Amino acid sequence: MVMKCLPLLLLLIACDGFTAPSDARPYQPPPEFTGLWQRMEQCSGLSGDFARVHWFITDGDLQLDGKSRAGVWVSPHNVYMLESYAIDAYRDYVAVRHEMLHDLTQSGEHGPVFTICDALNVN
Ligand SMILES: [Zn+2]
Repeated sequence: MVMKCLPLLLLLIACDGFTAPSDARPYQPPPEFTGLWQRMEQCSGLSGDFARVHWFITDGDLQLDGKSRAGVWVSPHNVYMLESYAIDAYRDYVAVRHEMLHDLTQSGEHGPVFTICDALNVN
């Protein structure tokens, strides 16, 4: 799995200027992610295939543009999460839902759906 993904990841990283942490590893999304995805589809009015998203977690530091992040979406369908945010039921998985919206919108922008779906304030 890791070896199979690596060449693709390197390509995407090169395109996006994002360097995955060295300890990033594939993450099998827990069952509740399916319900979160459906919620994000409903509030955004968009639809997408949840199975197309490849999840990765890390315990380290997720850096993008010089800032630490809870999650990073890499086009087209890769999501990197800090593990603490990937399991953050306490805050209703806001960082997970945030990255789901990036995948559904296929954009790194934060359009109105992020407010509509209450997924803007990750921290
Ligand atoms: Zn974002």
